[in-house]
Amino acid sequence: MTPFHRILVAVDFSSHSARALEIATDLAHRFDSAVTILHVYEPNIYAGPGSYMVPTSTYDRARPAVLATLEQQLERNSEDLHTAGVRDVETALLQGTPYDQIVEYARDNDHDLIVLGTHGRTGIRRALLGSVAERVVRKAPCAVLTVRLPEAAREELASAESMP
Ligand code: AMP
Repeated sequence: MTPFHRILVAVDFSSHSARALEIATDLAHRFDSAVTILHVYEPNIYAGPGSYMVPTSTYDRARPAVLATLEQQLERNSEDLHTAGVRDVETALLQGTPYDQIVEYARDNDHDLIVLGTHGRTGIRRALLGSVAERVVRKAPCAVLTVRLPEAAREELASAESMP
């Protein structure tokens, strides 16, 4: 089997993308691959529901703190991969439309595999705007592995999400 030299894992910090990180870690061991963990920052998503009522200046003030938190989360993910024995781990934080940035980053940086979850953090947005995973599969310049949570974890998540 052709080894994957450079793996790109797209994370939105959901349990789905946590599973994608686990699978990428496993593959990186098998193929001795380099791994990049990528998050794409979308300002309007972090502002939450009703964001159209928040003035631009509020976004601008919050932005450095949000970016710092995201950097920290990526760093934690990176440390986990190092601890698990993956040799070559990088992180990337970009701004824009997630599927676009993921595809472009993979192309520009010669990744030969993208790993991401089948579902993400933002259920409502997914219903309105469509799936990041589907679009990445359609447009990617390389192989794509979409990762599903095991059934028990999916059920647990669904019941937690339906709680008031
Ligand atoms: P979705 O299609 O939004 O349900 O998300 C599917 C998967 O795409 C997630 O599990 C992540 O692996 C990835 N993903 C979604 N949003 C982002 C984002 N903003 N940055 C990086 N990866 C993302």
